[in-house]
Amino acid sequence: MEDYLKAALEIVKAQASVRTMTEEEITSMVQKLSAGIKSIAEGGTVETEVEYAVDPKKAIREKSILCCVCGKSFKILTKKHLSTHELTVDEYREKFGYKKKLPLVCKSLQRERRKKMKEMKLWTKRGKNKE
Ligand SMILES: [Zn+2]
Repeated sequence: MEDYLKAALEIVKAQASVRTMTEEEITSMVQKLSAGIKSIAEGGTVETEVEYAVDPKKAIREKSILCCVCGKSFKILTKKHLSTHELTVDEYREKFGYKKKLPLVCKSLQRERRKKMKEMKLWTKRGKNKE
């Protein structure tokens, strides 16, 4: 028997001795635990990154942004699309380790937006100076 399975069984045995568990509960707990322990043993984390369609670090490209959940390509990753994965923009950013204020748009659009913001700031400044 694999070590991770043994380890999982030990944990479940300990659990079963302190509370009543159904056979189903025991089975699913062993499954979950052994998978978790296995991925730790293999150098991964419990929440394996295998389920991600795209590496979040490589998702934002010059002309496109990839959805890390399904791997589809967009110019702008919209709230509407994320809602199909039952995620909000904030949850999405948190889940994939993005910064809180990161705009979910491709790099060229990010630059454009930044430029526009600058222009707007200059414009408001100019406006104020006129007063
Ligand atoms: Zn998606």
